[in-house]
Amino acid sequence: AAKTEERNAFRFYSPRMHADVLRRIALASELRKALAEQEFRLVYQPTVDMRSGRIVAVEALLRWHHPERGAISPGEFIPMAEKLGLIRRIDQWVLQAACTQMHRWDLAGVPPLRMAINVSAHWFGQANFVDDIRSLLESRRLAPERLMLEITEGAILRLGEEMERTLHALHALGVGVAIDDFGTGYSSMRYLKLRAIAYLKIDQSFVFGLPDDSSDAAIVEAMLTLCRNLGISPIAEGIETEEQHRFLLRAGCVEGQGFLYSKPVDPDVIVQLLSPGRRQGGPHLRLVPPES
Ligand code: C2E
Ligand code: MG
Ligand code: MG
Ligand code: MG
Repeated sequence: AAKTEERNAFRFYSPRMHADVLRRIALASELRKALAEQEFRLVYQPTVDMRSGRIVAVEALLRWHHPERGAISPGEFIPMAEKLGLIRRIDQWVLQAACTQMHRWDLAGVPPLRMAINVSAHWFGQANFVDDIRSLLESRRLAPERLMLEITEGAILRLGEEMERTLHALHALGVGVAIDDFGTGYSSMRYLKLRAIAYLKIDQSFVFGLPDDSSDAAIVEAMLTLCRNLGISPIAEGIETEEQHRFLLRAGCVEGQGFLYSKPVDPDVIVQLLSPGRRQGGPHLRLVPPES
């Protein structure tokens, strides 16, 4: 009986599904205009040294503020941009905007941070990618070590030799590459072998069940051992509780990111958080109050 229901469910076309399809079609054409209309902006989520609570890096995260629909999540529009062939231009905009922001912070005397940027495979695989990065860093007077590019396992898998060349070239340049959402895609062990990966971001789905879920605990510990033995710096994502924080710290993870410390914030909040008089770290893990 369940099987019949399942089959019928496929044919059943609800008004809700219809609305979703219409929304997607509309968003697709609106996405083309969004860059020109300056509807994108970046927010920055701090990465902290979990031992001290100090901010060591920020991750640039894209926000689309649609004039009528309001905020649209990157989880929805990034996959759409990939399908529409718009992702490369968006990635380029993000990289430029984030590097310009770093340059502004430098001019304002903000202590230097690392900046993490999410890039899709589409651009990463291009022949001139590394040259573009190099000239952008030069124009903003940024040391390559301050840039970190996050790519997902899925993206790595889709590219063959081109990806290997890019990884080695970035490594030689000094730009750090991170595997994002590690453990959720196809195994990228082969790429870890190249010794050109500097960071590994432990996906929030494994952090979620810590410390009680024994599978999550075992997987996270294995990932941390892998990092230690390969000389890769782990970064845990999606840390929301003090219990998760304590487990990760005890297991040897130094850097972490999550709502426990701060949600993604506007650039001026980062400046406030790093202002000289402000006490950083200490017993209060939370840098920014939770979203209301
Ligand atoms: P990601 O790179 O893995 O980014 C982490 C996501 O988790 C962000 O969602 C962040 O707001 C969220 N997050 C951070 N801490 C916590 C936490 O403690 N709990 C929970 N539940 N969530 C947390 P966001 O900003 O919606 O981004 C979603 C994804 O969209 C990103 O995943 C990334 O894959 C993609 N993305 C975002 N910005 C860009 C961009 O500029 N370019 C590209 N190509 N992709 C982007
Ligand atoms: Mg990321
Ligand atoms: Mg991630
Ligand atoms: Mg993610």
